[in-house]
Amino acid sequence: MRKREESESKRCAVYARFSTDQQKETSTESQVAVCTNYLNKQADWTLVAAPFCDEGISGTGVGNRPAFLAMLDLAASGGFDVLLINDLTRLSRTVDLPVTIADLQAQGVVVIGVQDNFDSRSEVAVLQASFSAVSSHQSVSGTSKRVHAAHQLMVKSGKHAGGCSYGHKIIHVPHPTERDRFSGLPVIAEKRIEVDVEEAKVVERIFTDFANGLSTTAIAARLNAEGIPSPGAAWERKVRRVNRGWMASTLSSDPERGGGILNNEIYIGKYIWNRRRSVKIRSTGKTVWHDNSPSVWEREDRPHLRIISDDLWNAVKKMQAWRRSSRGDAISKGIADGKAKRRGGADSRYLLGSLLICGSCGSRLIGDGALDYICPAFTCGGCDNDLRVRRDDVHREVFAPLHEYLFSEEAIARQQARARMDLERMRREEQKASTKPVVTKAIQAIDEQVAALRKLSLGPAALNAVLAELKAERAELEAKAGDRAVERYSRAQRLIDRLPETAAKYRKVITQGAKALTDHAAICAGREAIRKLLKDGTIVLKPNAPHTSLVGAVRFAELGDHVLGLTGSQRHVKALVNEKALMNQEKGIMVGVTGFEPATPTSRT
Ligand SMILES: [Zn+2]
Repeated sequence: MRKREESESKRCAVYARFSTDQQKETSTESQVAVCTNYLNKQADWTLVAAPFCDEGISGTGVGNRPAFLAMLDLAASGGFDVLLINDLTRLSRTVDLPVTIADLQAQGVVVIGVQDNFDSRSEVAVLQASFSAVSSHQSVSGTSKRVHAAHQLMVKSGKHAGGCSYGHKIIHVPHPTERDRFSGLPVIAEKRIEVDVEEAKVVERIFTDFANGLSTTAIAARLNAEGIPSPGAAWERKVRRVNRGWMASTLSSDPERGGGILNNEIYIGKYIWNRRRSVKIRSTGKTVWHDNSPSVWEREDRPHLRIISDDLWNAVKKMQAWRRSSRGDAISKGIADGKAKRRGGADSRYLLGSLLICGSCGSRLIGDGALDYICPAFTCGGCDNDLRVRRDDVHREVFAPLHEYLFSEEAIARQQARARMDLERMRREEQKASTKPVVTKAIQAIDEQVAALRKLSLGPAALNAVLAELKAERAELEAKAGDRAVERYSRAQRLIDRLPETAAKYRKVITQGAKALTDHAAICAGREAIRKLLKDGTIVLKPNAPHTSLVGAVRFAELGDHVLGLTGSQRHVKALVNEKALMNQEKGIMVGVTGFEPATPTSRT
C-alpha cells in the first residue's frame, strides 16, 4: 500500500459508484469503507462532505450520475482538496477518464485511487489513467456476453438474477460481520427471491377465479374494486408510468411469450431466464432491451418459488384453450380470414383501434359493441374515462382533414412544386461542392496503390506501365461515381412525378379500410397508412370536464394539428358487489350463451 507522509491537513471527499451491469462490483458501502479506512490512516485528513454515491449506474455515461455531478460541483467551488475513490473505474469506464482527472487537477484537487494505487500527483498518473480507460472501455463492450455468463452462474447457484414477479419479493441478505461505516448497518451480501405471503394469496385467487370461469376482465375489476394494489403500483415508484390498476392484460397477454400472471411459469416453480437481452447505447450509457425468441429461453427448477399446484395450473391452461376455441366459434367469422391471428390485443379489428389513446390513463381505446370505442381500463375500475364514442364519428373526423388537405389535387400539386424546388436546390449545391472529382473508397485504394508502387525500386518503364493501367481504372471508377449521382437525382425526380399516383394509392387504402367492416387485411392496411401520416403514430383523446365528449388533436405530419371534439355517451358502472351475479354471468359466457369478453360481446361484428 501507499506509504506517504502527509503532514499537512487535507479536506477530502469520497466518490463511490455501483453498477448493476458488471458482474463483480463491490457495493458503494464497501467502496466508501475502503476510502475512509485509508483516510483514517493519514495524520490530519478530514471528510468534508457525506460520500457521493451513485447506485446501479453504469460508468459509460455521465449525464445520469447525479452524485458524480454534485461532486464535480463541490470541486469547482473549491470545497475539497483530495478525492478518494476505490479505483479509477469508479470515476469512469470510458476514454473521458483522463479528461475528468485533468479537470479535477486543474481545480487543485488530488485524485487518489486506494485499491489501484493511483495518485494524480505521480509522474505515471496520466499513463495509468489512459490505460485504465482503454482497458475498461473494452471490457464494457464485452459486457452483454458477460452478463449472460454471470446470469448463468447465478442461476445455477440458485441465486437471484434480474427482476422479481408479482407474488415474490427480493430479500437482501445482510453480511454476517461486515458493516457500513456510516450507517452502522450490515453490508448487503446477497439478494434472494422469496414468496411474498400476501401477494401469493392474490395470485392463487387469480388462478382459482380464472379456472372457475371468471374472465380476466372480471377478475381485474374485482381486484380493483377491493383496492388491492396492482403490480404497476409498485413499478410506479421507480418508473414514471401511469398506474391503471389491474388490467385484463396484467393477468394474461401473450400466452406464447408467458405474458401476464396466468402465463408465468414461475408460479409453478419454473424460473425462466434469458427472455431478453440488453444492448448498451454508448452515447447515453442507457440500456435497451430486446426480446429473445422462446427457443433460447432457459428454464431452471425453483421449487421454493411455487405458489400454485400443477393441477390448478393445468386447469387454467384448459380454460384458456376453451376460451380461445369459443371465441373462434363466436366471432372469428366476423373478424379475420384466419391468417391474421390476434396476439396480445396487438391487431385491433377496427380502423383506428390501436391508434386512439385514452388521455386519462394512457390505455389504447378498444372497439366495443357494434358501434363504439371505449377505454378498457374503465371496465376494470382503473380509469375515470366513462365515455363511449361512435366509431363512425371518430373515423369521419380523422378523415376530413386528410381528404380536404392531404389528398386534394391542389394540395398534391403544391407539394410537388415544393419538392421539385428542393431537389433543384440540392442538385445545384452538390454541383458547387463537387468541383473536385468524386473520391470513393475504390478510388482511394487505387491512389494508395500508386503511392506504394512509387516507393518500390521499379524501373521507369515497368512503373509507367502499371501506373497507366491503374490510371485508366481510376478514371472509369470516377465516371461511374458521377453516373450514380445523376441516377440518384433522376430517381428522386421520378418519385416526385409519381406523387399524385402515390397519394391516390394511399387514399384508396385508407378509404377501403374505412369502408371495410369485416375485411381484416383491408382494415390493417388502412390503419398502417394513417399511422404513417400521424406525427406520433397515435391520437390522444380525453374526456372534457362535464364528461360529454372526448377531445384531442390529430397531429398530421404534413398538415399540423386538427382539433377533434367527439360527443360521447356515459357508460354505466358495472356492479361489482354482487359476486354471485357476476359469477353467473361469467358462467353464461362459458356455456356459450353470449360470447367472449369484454362486457358486450353479442353485438360484435
Ligand atoms: Zn382510460
